[in-house]
Amino acid sequence: MRILITGGAGFIGSHLCDRFLGEGHHVICMDNLITGSIENISHLRKEKKFKFVKRDVTKYINIDGNLDAILHFASPASPIDYIKLPIQTLKVGSLGTHNALGLAKEKKAKILIASTSEVYGDPLVHPQKETYWGNVNPIGPRGVYDEAKRFAEAITMAYHRVHRIDTKIVRIFNTYGERMRLKDGRVVPNFIFQALKGKPLTIYGNGKQTRSFSYVSDTVDGIVKLLNSKLNEPVNIGNPCEYTILEFAKIIQKLTDSKSKIVFQELPCDDPKVRQPDITKAKKLLKWSPKISVEEGIGRTIKWFKKKI
Ligand code: UDP
Repeated sequence: MRILITGGAGFIGSHLCDRFLGEGHHVICMDNLITGSIENISHLRKEKKFKFVKRDVTKYINIDGNLDAILHFASPASPIDYIKLPIQTLKVGSLGTHNALGLAKEKKAKILIASTSEVYGDPLVHPQKETYWGNVNPIGPRGVYDEAKRFAEAITMAYHRVHRIDTKIVRIFNTYGERMRLKDGRVVPNFIFQALKGKPLTIYGNGKQTRSFSYVSDTVDGIVKLLNSKLNEPVNIGNPCEYTILEFAKIIQKLTDSKSKIVFQELPCDDPKVRQPDITKAKKLLKWSPKISVEEGIGRTIKWFKKKI
């Protein structure tokens, strides 16, 4: 296949580039580098089947030649990024998705849109099944990401229904691993960075809020299986093993062998109280389930962070 990956220099995007090149496909990586980084793809620059295009997907995009598949992964994804870049976040989820869908229509390519567990907002149903419609504050600081992704899902289904494009929507739950930025702001890089530097681990709120963490290779496997499937409705991809943030901080302390203390700071506005994917659908229809335990995945991530610090 000849595949376009928007946000291909980002955290998950760059792992997707590796994966498709490894399977012998041609990959065009498009990124405007506002949160992605050239370093994530620098090892691929000499690959004959790889091409990098620095471009903003919210402006009109065109690609010479055929395309078989598009994966739209461009977007700020860390709360500190989308709160700092609210308009870019809204535009990449709306105008960017529109452009990606238009290109898929023109090229008769299938397209997979990266959505998120944030479409469920601060969920009132737990764990979250794909049939749950969510509890999102449209005008809160997180609304820029949540509503952009909800719009992305809506326009994707409209293109599927009206233009009969083969569309897919993956709802990605918290994913971590190599290539997350040290100062990404999300809980995994924050805690690992703090623990390795001997600084206090910053828990927001009382630490009783929960998250469920998936290692990047598992998330990428789920995405590839969804792309290769016949499904057009959204599918949750994530690891259901759920921890409170306080429990998670203690895991990081243990795995880094760190003497860092824990400090409590203010909880950000609209921070979801619980989150755990119901992955029944992915298990049944994609024959996918996560394989890497938190201990193993966090262990690999710590190793990578040690090299970067
Ligand atoms: N969090 C925390 N300390 C940090 C960073 C995050 O306690 O240094 C909390 C955050 O408030 C949230 C959870 O960890 O409850 C996960 O945050 P993250 O930014 O990783 O992503 P989210 O799941 O909220 O999108």
